[in-house]
Amino acid sequence: MSVNKIIWVKPFNPENHNVETEGRAGRCGWHGTNEGTPCGEPPYASVKFNYADFQPVYSACARALRKISEDNGFPIPPSP
Ligand SMILES: [Zn+2]
Repeated sequence: MSVNKIIWVKPFNPENHNVETEGRAGRCGWHGTNEGTPCGEPPYASVKFNYADFQPVYSACARALRKISEDNGFPIPPSP
């Protein structure tokens, strides 16, 4: 779970996300995907992960970003 690598972290922008994703719709896709329930908090960042076979870009609210940061050891970027 926490061994995933991060390719990049950018301030949230719907343009960073594929159509028909939660990120493009302006929602936090990280919680929606990992907890299976929609997240009520607005996205703060776009995060590209490097899994073995695919590299998804998730939108992440501030709470999700803190968790991702703790798990993967990277600094949280300043807000835009
Ligand atoms: Zn969230």
